[in-house]
Amino acid sequence: MRRFDTVIVVDWSGGNDTGAAPRKDAIWVCAAQSGQAEDPVYLRNRQDAETWLSGRIAQERQKGHRVLVGFDFAFAYPSGFAEALLGSDDPVNPLDVWAHLADAIADMPERNNRFDLAGDINRGLGQGKGPFWGNALQRDIVGLPRTKQDYANPFPERRTCEARAKGSFTCWQLAGAGAVGSQTLMGLPVLHRLRERFGMDVTVWPFEPLGGPVAFVEIWPSLVLGSAPDGEIRDAWQVREMAIRISALSAEALRQITTIESPEARREGWIFGLGHEELLQQTPLVPPPLRNDCFALPAGVDWIPVDDAIAHLRAAVSVQATEITDAVLHEAVGRVLAEDVQARTANPPYPNTAVDGYGFAGAMPEGPHVLPLVQTRAAAGDAPTPVPAGHAVRILTGAVLPAGVETVVLQEDVTSDGNSVAFNGPIRQGANTRKAGEDVQAGETILTAGRVLTPADIALAAATGHPYLPVRRKLRVGVISTGSELREPGTQNMAPGLIHDANRPMLLTLLAEWGFEPVDLGTVEDDRERLRARFDEGASRTDAILTSGGASAGDEDHVSALLRAAGAMQMWRIAVKPGRPLALGMWDGVPVFGLPGNPVAALVCAFIFARPALGVMAGRSWQPPQAYDLPARFSKTKKPGRREYLRARVRDGGVEVFSSEGSGRISGLSWAEGLVELPDGAAEVRPGDPVRYLPFRS
Ligand code: AMP
Ligand code: MG
Repeated sequence: MRRFDTVIVVDWSGGNDTGAAPRKDAIWVCAAQSGQAEDPVYLRNRQDAETWLSGRIAQERQKGHRVLVGFDFAFAYPSGFAEALLGSDDPVNPLDVWAHLADAIADMPERNNRFDLAGDINRGLGQGKGPFWGNALQRDIVGLPRTKQDYANPFPERRTCEARAKGSFTCWQLAGAGAVGSQTLMGLPVLHRLRERFGMDVTVWPFEPLGGPVAFVEIWPSLVLGSAPDGEIRDAWQVREMAIRISALSAEALRQITTIESPEARREGWIFGLGHEELLQQTPLVPPPLRNDCFALPAGVDWIPVDDAIAHLRAAVSVQATEITDAVLHEAVGRVLAEDVQARTANPPYPNTAVDGYGFAGAMPEGPHVLPLVQTRAAAGDAPTPVPAGHAVRILTGAVLPAGVETVVLQEDVTSDGNSVAFNGPIRQGANTRKAGEDVQAGETILTAGRVLTPADIALAAATGHPYLPVRRKLRVGVISTGSELREPGTQNMAPGLIHDANRPMLLTLLAEWGFEPVDLGTVEDDRERLRARFDEGASRTDAILTSGGASAGDEDHVSALLRAAGAMQMWRIAVKPGRPLALGMWDGVPVFGLPGNPVAALVCAFIFARPALGVMAGRSWQPPQAYDLPARFSKTKKPGRREYLRARVRDGGVEVFSSEGSGRISGLSWAEGLVELPDGAAEVRPGDPVRYLPFRS
């Protein structure tokens, strides 16, 4: 039995919406891979749960993962019920009961018809006395006994597997302490729809062999788990434990668990692990998975030094802007050169004169010399006319040296009557001339791939014969601001609590300044589904996404929550000030830099982390910000623990820093022209001490 890449365990609920705050006796799910669990997710009602499961399964499939989903309710009823319910003389596939219930159950977050349906079934099959019992409603329901006093069940009380699982409850009991009947009744319709959505991908064990890419199994945490540790929500703890244990099972253990002797299993279902409890009894200690998600960090990593985070980032990113075009020279400036470029022609292409003067052959010894002048003149651009031996020629800067000319004497050093020139030696051979190719030889590499082309590069390419240069397309980088408090700059009559969105304009313009193609993905309020949709849109249109806000772990921090739910988020608690938290993750294969909401922190993180990483994605070589040691014009005592960046600028040869360190102070950001970087450890800076200065424009 091949192992599953991802295991999702669901603790179901048959009741109504349980509210926004995570609580017990609600729906909880937890995903794990190879024994490493994500945080359990609280889902307040079945509608949310169905959406979550459907989305998560789709994501896993997109990644090509095999996924096993375990639900803590019975997948079928005791023998005979299915046939009676569907009025069939032949054995009925339990999955047909799923379809029947999906039709019959009406489910809304605040109300559903499960008790009425149970009453209907009882009246049809058991003279209104069973098989279902228990009623949590105020009103009586005809045919549904409230207690077991007047109860008669035409079917077995328990399934074969339940008879073997000590302490398990019967699926007929719909209300009262320990009742699980409602979960089954309200869960099977959801399973039916998930099965319909994923079609042939889904196999339901044990009715179908556990072969496909998505498997549904029935679990019962109490089979192997004791009581939850103090202070933990039981359901959350249970799904996590189960997910860890099932995801850590070996192929052989899976094979044993899913090989079932009992013939009833095909009709009544079976509890995953029943009969093999020892295989699930302990929380396994497993090594962390090798993830190919590029921001994954070793398990257990807590505060990460800036240098480590950068090294990790550097190893994780690769060039994305792979399309190459030939750009005409003036449009190539600022772009990333895609290939090494060789000179097509030498520079200079021909030997020529560096000065205005008179040219002749060879050297001249010490003493006075008089040479007759030829009547031609050599100027820049002229085709050269040979000069006879013993003669000189009037020659102007840039002119090609004619045959018979090797040396030039400066015009300031001669007297001439128009027919001859007189000057003093010595003059060495080749004086005041430039040799062909003395700057660049034809064929020599003039520019290397990965360079951001400067105007001087353009000159070099032009001089050596290039009308075009091969450049990469610009990296498309999306920008999203998150926060319900944000309004467009210029919005009038701002209600209390609202602020203007400063980060998006800042980041969009920064990206443009850095040579990327900024893509405005707008503002999203603190709403997970809207943000998810925006991420989807961004991932389809861009190579990378910068968000600001919502990156820590609070209630409204949906960026980190989404990235974590996508299974591709590493919360980087980077030891940096200002800056944490910085959430880095992948969305549909697109790196997302979840920058902090504070504009100062957003800029610092973008500058230190995003810029070099985006550069690599754009095809550049890794370029950390330039830094210079300059004398401080301030005092500062810094505690050890995290690297610190201060808003700074250079005046009179020294570095001054902004008076307030508050990370909401945008005025200080505008005041600054760069940052001072203080080391991770403790530091004591006095005026005159050297400090590291990182100019914004470097
Ligand atoms: P958050 O990271 O979402 O908790 O935001 C931290 C702080 O930054 C809060 O005071 C936010 O109001 C503020 N903030 C978040 N996004 C922006 C933005 N785009 N422009 C200006 N301030 C912001
Ligand atoms: Mg926010």
